Amino acid sequence: MIMRRIRDFFKTFLLYELVKGMMLTGRHFFQRKITVQYPEEKTPRSPRFRGLHALRRYPNGEERCIACKLCEAICPTLCITIESEQRGDGTRRTTRYDIDLTKCMYCGYCEESCPVDSIVETGIFEYHGEKRGDLYYTKPMLLAVGDKYEAEIARARQADAAFR
Ligand code: SF4
Ligand code: SF4
Repeated sequence: MIMRRIRDFFKTFLLYELVKGMMLTGRHFFQRKITVQYPEEKTPRSPRFRGLHALRRYPNGEERCIACKLCEAICPTLCITIESEQRGDGTRRTTRYDIDLTKCMYCGYCEESCPVDSIVETGIFEYHGEKRGDLYYTKPMLLAVGDKYEAEIARARQADAAFR
């Protein structure tokens, strides 16, 4: 008991814990840093990463989606809602295509099931919502993502096809 008190006294008197901490800091000070300074720096991303959804168009501007509803049927979280109607030319197109991203688990089943490569998951992960409704993506929002990133999406789809 008395020995421990003496030891504690000297440890306190000689700032032992402080010196020990400074030595640990000193040891790591010159080592390679593993902290990533996001957003200036980014970690590598898998080519199979699944991010924000997009609806694509053909080069002539026509929507790819034929309203077959396979993606809606296969979605395990039931976060896709589609309504459709027949157009004057006899083709079927969606009148509503919504994805509730707060429910989505990014499984990729929707894009796997699509026969016309319409709904895709892009590599975009830098998006957010400040309230719940912000992550409810409607058809115009999904088409806008597709229009904006079509070149990137097409490149990724080609690379994916070559990989398979
Ligand atoms: S990624 Fe999966 S959960 Fe999300 S919309 Fe597609 S099928 Fe549904
Ligand atoms: S996105 Fe593809 S799978 Fe979904 S309704 Fe349209 S064509 Fe069918």
